[in-house]
Amino acid sequence: MNEKKLKKLAIATRAVHLGSEPDPQTGAVTVPIYQTSTYRQEFPGQHKGYEYSRTDNPTRSAYQRALAGLEGADYGLTFASGMSAVDTIMKTYRPGDHIIAGDDLYGGVYRLFSTFYEPLGIELEYVDMFGDFDLEPHIKSNTKMVWMETPSNPLLKIADIENISKVTRAHRIPLIIDNTFMSPAIQQPLQLGANVIVHSTTKYIGGHSDTVGGAIITSDEQLYTKYKILQNSAGAVPGPFDCFIAHRGLKTLDLRMKKHCRNALKIADWLQQRKDIAKVIYPFIESHPHYKIAQRQMSGGGGMISFEISGNREKALEIVSRTELFLLAESLGGVESLIEHPAVMTHASIPQEIREEKGLNDRLIRLSVGIEDADDLIEDLDKALG
Ligand code: PLP
Repeated sequence: MNEKKLKKLAIATRAVHLGSEPDPQTGAVTVPIYQTSTYRQEFPGQHKGYEYSRTDNPTRSAYQRALAGLEGADYGLTFASGMSAVDTIMKTYRPGDHIIAGDDLYGGVYRLFSTFYEPLGIELEYVDMFGDFDLEPHIKSNTKMVWMETPSNPLLKIADIENISKVTRAHRIPLIIDNTFMSPAIQQPLQLGANVIVHSTTKYIGGHSDTVGGAIITSDEQLYTKYKILQNSAGAVPGPFDCFIAHRGLKTLDLRMKKHCRNALKIADWLQQRKDIAKVIYPFIESHPHYKIAQRQMSGGGGMISFEISGNREKALEIVSRTELFLLAESLGGVESLIEHPAVMTHASIPQEIREEKGLNDRLIRLSVGIEDADDLIEDLDKALG
């Protein structure tokens, strides 16, 4: 089926077929791994669309088309990591530019902004943009971009993309959404008014904890052109095998996300019933402060749950070390369930007083719920909680 027609179909169909046209020479139904750095030219400057694999590679092109189509966008670019995708966008800004960013960002993104771009003279303002929020008073004459992760990490706060995009569009400022925690199967920021999507494809897109990668997706031709020039010039590109394996993961994205969401909702409900749990944070339970926004802009609550135990730090550390199915590890979004202690692991670089102020205390535990059987996962947690 041609790409235009395919792009109108449901996400589960697009995920399987986009960028996966059978190979014209052999009929192979899977895009081959074009493990080549260069391409023979018929005559100087006459080639079949590929000159050098930093610039373009057929395995990467197919994967990029699939990703763009899933987010409902015209263009997709992939990178060697989520951080190199973030860095590519940041390289398009100059000293004196003002950028508004959410105040609950992935620590690595905050580190890149604060240790490299702020000292260069880029003005970064971190704002609590979650829930009922008015962006307008924060816009200045030199504001050049708004950057958001929703849900945030690890407190899973929800920003109202549509509401915020009304302001960014009125001021012609690009709104960039890091859609890593949701994936296009649950949340489609471009349809809600955002201009650019970023992914750590290491997480739900790849989905199997076996490759590191990133992506930038947009329908804005001018922005795409800038990012494409940087992708080729700086060269932080994924190799053909990484593109192949992430593209293979992408084909089951819809199926996996449905199971991640179903499992996580069941576990969140179960945690809520326990007396030894002080607080459960999951966007699709009614006690979540941004439940209404989540219901409006997401088709599921996702696979991430954070919860606070009633005990102390030592008890929390003990619990995360006792699970057997939930593996004690950083990262998220794979088929296997993971458990971690944000204050000691993923968010240790944030000073304790700032962590406490945000509600990220030492009793907080974060789960990345996988696609195993939900009852087996509950039994594992039940034993660990004691
Ligand atoms: N954005 C978010 C929301 C993340 O969670 C991460 C990594 O955990 C990144 C970006 C960075 O991606 P990577 O680790 O693939 O470089």
